[in-house]
Amino acid sequence: MTYLPEVEVIRKELEKEVQGKRFKTINIKSASSVGRHRNRPEFYKLLDGRKIEAVTRRGTLLLFELDEGQTLVVALGSRSGLTRETATEEAGPDTQFTASFTTGGALHLVDPAKDAELFVVPTAELEALPELSTGGIDALADTFTWHAFGQELMLRQQALALLLRDETFILGLGDLYADEILWSAGLSPQRRSNSLTSQEVRRLYRAIFEVLYEAVKQGGVEVYDDTDGDDEPEYADFVKVYDRVAEQCVRCRRPIEQVAVEGVMVYACSGCQT
Ligand SMILES: [Zn+2]
Repeated sequence: MTYLPEVEVIRKELEKEVQGKRFKTINIKSASSVGRHRNRPEFYKLLDGRKIEAVTRRGTLLLFELDEGQTLVVALGSRSGLTRETATEEAGPDTQFTASFTTGGALHLVDPAKDAELFVVPTAELEALPELSTGGIDALADTFTWHAFGQELMLRQQALALLLRDETFILGLGDLYADEILWSAGLSPQRRSNSLTSQEVRRLYRAIFEVLYEAVKQGGVEVYDDTDGDDEPEYADFVKVYDRVAEQCVRCRRPIEQVAVEGVMVYACSGCQT
């Protein structure tokens, strides 16, 4: 799963390794991953000889700022990984994109679900991209006070579970982090955003940072393969409610439940989320 913390972890690693490097060869396996361009040669031509000046991020989009005023945008897929490799490393069956650099080394995008996307845009036109103009907060990049945050909650009048999944409010939390943040804040997913006391607004505000920073610190959410033979995925320890139905809540020991909030399925503890 690649949500905000996972993309930030990838960005930090790549920043150290590819900044200042110049593209030499590019290869895209399937034209559908560069579907915003007419064809693969058009994409290759835009990257040919370009130098990576910075690796930044907005929400879950990775932005490779290039010389000549261009930016390579990478929207990672649900199970994608983007890694630095040696120039001689063979592309695996799920590798959708490879790029080598003039000074050695390569970049590989592994995308088993084939839902990642890459495209090049003039940097000046970045802000006009629909994905980048939702107006949502990037909680790992933007500064916002709890007071301004509270005012926005008053205006929205939405169920918290839906609000935290709304990209016009906050970017890249996905189902997992939305549920984890509400658990951490001790707030029910059904609560309406305009019903919160100022103490609860502060708790929610703090929980957003605490959960996301902890996830970045842990290297993102690992989904371990089945270890006990029941075919169920195992999540990293910092995941307290997501996909943990019937497990004991670590705070109040009641069983975690899955509930519907206006048609959205949410994991929560009815014992300590009020
Ligand atoms: Zn609980």
